[in-house]
Amino acid sequence: MLFGSKLKKSKQIPVLALRDVIVFPDQVKPLIIGRSHSVASLLKADSSDKSIVLVMQKDADVSILKSDDLHEIGTLAKILQVLRLPDNKYRLLVRGEERVRLTDIDSKELVWTSAIEHLEVPTEDERDLELMIQVVHEQFERVSQLDPAIPEEMVQSIVKNFDGSKLADSLIPHVCSKPDEQQSLLEMLSPLDRLNRIAEILQEKAEVLVVDKRIRERVKDQMEKNQKEYYLNEKMQAIQKELGDEEEEISEFVVLKTNIEKAEMPEETATAAFRELNRLKKMNPMSAEATVSRSYIDWLIALPWNRYAEENADLKHAREVLEEEHYGLRDVKTRIVEYLSVRQVAPNGKAPILCLAGPPGIGKTSLARSIAKATNRPFVRQALGGVRDESEIRGHRRTYIGSMPGKLLQSLKRAKVNNPVFLLDEIDKMSKDFHRGDPSAALLEALDPEQNDAFRDHYINSDYDLSKVLFICTANDLREIPGPLQDRLEIIELSSYTEPEKIIIAQRHLISKQLKQHALTEDDIHFSKESLSAIVRQYTREAGVRELDRQIGKVCRKVTVRKMEASEFKKVWLTADNVELLLGSYRYLDRGIDRDGEVGVINGLAVTSFGGAVLEIEVAAFPGKGDLILTGRLGDWLKESAKAGLSCLRMRVEQLGLEPDFHTKQDLHIHYPGNASKADGPSAGVAMACAMLSALTGRKIRSDVAITGEISLRGRVLAIGGVKEKMLAAHARGMKLAFLPKENESKLDELPQYVRDEMEIRAVSNIDEVLPYVFLSEEEDATVE
Ligand code: ADP
Repeated sequence: MLFGSKLKKSKQIPVLALRDVIVFPDQVKPLIIGRSHSVASLLKADSSDKSIVLVMQKDADVSILKSDDLHEIGTLAKILQVLRLPDNKYRLLVRGEERVRLTDIDSKELVWTSAIEHLEVPTEDERDLELMIQVVHEQFERVSQLDPAIPEEMVQSIVKNFDGSKLADSLIPHVCSKPDEQQSLLEMLSPLDRLNRIAEILQEKAEVLVVDKRIRERVKDQMEKNQKEYYLNEKMQAIQKELGDEEEEISEFVVLKTNIEKAEMPEETATAAFRELNRLKKMNPMSAEATVSRSYIDWLIALPWNRYAEENADLKHAREVLEEEHYGLRDVKTRIVEYLSVRQVAPNGKAPILCLAGPPGIGKTSLARSIAKATNRPFVRQALGGVRDESEIRGHRRTYIGSMPGKLLQSLKRAKVNNPVFLLDEIDKMSKDFHRGDPSAALLEALDPEQNDAFRDHYINSDYDLSKVLFICTANDLREIPGPLQDRLEIIELSSYTEPEKIIIAQRHLISKQLKQHALTEDDIHFSKESLSAIVRQYTREAGVRELDRQIGKVCRKVTVRKMEASEFKKVWLTADNVELLLGSYRYLDRGIDRDGEVGVINGLAVTSFGGAVLEIEVAAFPGKGDLILTGRLGDWLKESAKAGLSCLRMRVEQLGLEPDFHTKQDLHIHYPGNASKADGPSAGVAMACAMLSALTGRKIRSDVAITGEISLRGRVLAIGGVKEKMLAAHARGMKLAFLPKENESKLDELPQYVRDEMEIRAVSNIDEVLPYVFLSEEEDATVE
């Protein structure tokens, strides 16, 4: 209900029209008036009972008024004070008394008057009103906290006001500035409605103030930060000035400048370095930008642009060092010496890069170290295994935060000279990522003598001369090195060590090194030859000597502990019998075969990146319709081998006692274990044919026989690679009999005599020469059962 009115008879009271101003009941307000109607009304009221009706014009811009230009509702007020101002204007002070409706405006005379109707405030539900009052109190307090312009006295008077209508009216002039809205609140008689509207307005105001405060604080923080930085910078400069020229000389920038000069960079790079230094000087030293710039300059200074190690060109000395530090490897050492001599004769010649290839632990790294020692160059090693991003080799552009040069220049910084022996370890383990560039292409550029005097690292962004570096690469598996890279390399292959070689290496090199590391002497322990042989056979299965070295280290560790704990220590004489006491139970059977003969399982021979290996090929036969299933890590080329083996059996059905149509009634599943490399596929043909025959006939295959050789349709056994590695592996696994293709027979000369003595090796040209020996005889089969 908008007008809860009660009619009362009223006399005519002077009317004062106001522009955009409303006076609420109980509000005391100063007004200035000048219009003739207004002045006349004022004087009339002032001379009678000082009552006057204040009412707002609907449109503030209208000067010549008609009665309907006024709102219907206004405020009956009392004039408290009148003051005449010079230019016929009046300043008056009024106090609002109550809301009234102008019921009968008389505008005929100069003084406008109107009869009024007193409008009564409706009674509200008390609980509702109380609650609303509380809400408004709380909201006002909140707004006052956010708005420092609200004086504390006002807050106090508001929160102590519990009269709903008066509370509302006292707040309206403060929270609501729009005249139209104020008018609508004047017309609103219900205190609850007014308080409700005021609560809404306070809520909006609070939200605006919160955002406003947040923005102000942010601006303030930023300004304070800027001012602080500016202040500190100024202060620092002032301090530097204060300290005078002498102190300034050793300031950071001067040190950097001197270091740039000392670094002997090429001209282009030095210019870039000075330019960067000038930029750095202008930066705020605390900024991230300055850190990036500073570390770039530090990198340029730290790189060995023109520092060289004094090389030892004495080839005799080189030969002696290699000889002293490595047993055997005669051809390898000769080739290394040749390589060094060529480099010396033609230092600027475009020599290829050495690549030492072979299984782990056969001395590739230690040979490279010896080359460094022999030539008196520092040695740096960079592992490339797992590198798959071009920027790991060539660095990240400086725009990246935390970017750095690539691995090549990082290592050179470590080397401190420009001509170290640089070992690029495991180049075959580098991979390629489509999105991040090919690291091998970057490496190719670094290794290529045609262009490596101007190698460009993305971070350094200036040419770097790599041509004096003696690069040596290592690889386990040559087949994994990308072709173009392989072209650049002079490959020296190192093959597996035989058992006697391993024992001599242990006796001459490994033991003395381990004794030294464990602070032991030959008076503390003696490794007999038999004990070393036992360690090789029962605790290691490897092409190199790394595990052997580790086991010798383990023995030394145990002896050291004993020596420290025992009150009376006696020298340990290590024999084949007491090895177990120190190293724990055997890991491998002594050349033993750890399984009996089985149907469908045969020992194949392969060369992996760890050297030769015995792999168990499995075949299972099921009733079916002639499918050939292949599993394991190998692909199509193994299928070819398997198919050739199968056809070879089909051509011999009668001779082998197979059913003529077995190939349409039996499914065969061949499983070739992982870890072998691609080139081993074809060498498994004969072995697969034997295993298929076993699966089809149910005859068990001897577990102490190993076979390598490719097969033709007619059963011919064809040549394969890696004979020495494969035969050593077969022997190490305790095979009694090994087959290899006749065509490879000459390679047997490379095998040590003891292997040939302990294992029968048959060179064959046809599968028919193999079949009689691979199956257990019926009696043997029976005893195995
Ligand atoms: P790779 O780099 O081929 O994996 P390492 O160079 O790390 O192998 O050799 C492993 C350990 O074996 C080293 O301590 C090394 O000195 C030693 N070693 C390997 N071959 C020989 C050898 N022919 N003579 C002496 N020590 C050797």
